Amino acid sequence: MGAERLRGVVALDGPSGTGKSTVARGLAARLGARYLDTGAMYRAATLAVLRAGEDPAAPSAIPVAVAAVVEVGSDPDVPTVRLDGEDVADEIRGEAVTSAVSAVSAHPTVRVRLVDQQRRTIADALAAGLGIVVEGRDIGTVVAPDAPLKVYLTASDEVRASRRDSEDRRAGRTGDLASTLVAVRRRDSLDSGRAASPLRPADDAVTLDTSELDVDGVLSALLELVAERGLVSGGTAR
Ligand code: C5P
Repeated sequence: MGAERLRGVVALDGPSGTGKSTVARGLAARLGARYLDTGAMYRAATLAVLRAGEDPAAPSAIPVAVAAVVEVGSDPDVPTVRLDGEDVADEIRGEAVTSAVSAVSAHPTVRVRLVDQQRRTIADALAAGLGIVVEGRDIGTVVAPDAPLKVYLTASDEVRASRRDSEDRRAGRTGDLASTLVAVRRRDSLDSGRAASPLRPADDAVTLDTSELDVDGVLSALLELVAERGLVSGGTAR
């Protein structure tokens, strides 16, 4: 039903491979809302660092990441990611960026810069009378702590690695499940163990284990939550 519209902010956090991006986009499209993939922003900043030949973990990466002009579209039907005006949507999903992004996103100065941009995107959506679904690692804890619905998605390591692996294959990237599992665990431990805005559920987040659910199952659970919180106007969410 096209008349159903999200009001306010839905914060979706969790580690990689929990289905966050797919369901965040799906939820936003279904409820006439905007959508923000904050991971894409950290990935684009990381690509800038790699292109400049800087070590992602070194302080010299910081000015490069901060100067990068990162534009991430908020229309769920037309996701776009630009770095200094160039379309980098595919390149930021590759192995080079994936293995460097946790190091770049651990720099507090880089986070301050991108969180500021994320908050502006959220404010613009709300000012336009639209809801917005924001996905990342620190949305409920740092970026939008006042969001009326915060969901923390989890899934077993094996399920997450297998989803990542299928996604890579669909996109024509090669890899094997065992090394994807190692990479997924490594990134989780870096993201959860860093000092600046570590990955963790907000105290008032609803935790949803997606191990046994497909995309439609997760979407239904989220639609139920937004309806329960009274965040849908113009009809019922189901
Ligand atoms: O969600 P995605 O896997 O694309 O995120 C890539 C990386 O960006 C994460 O592993 C994490 O290091 C970083 N990130 C973050 N904070 C966010 C979103 C992503 O630190 N809000």
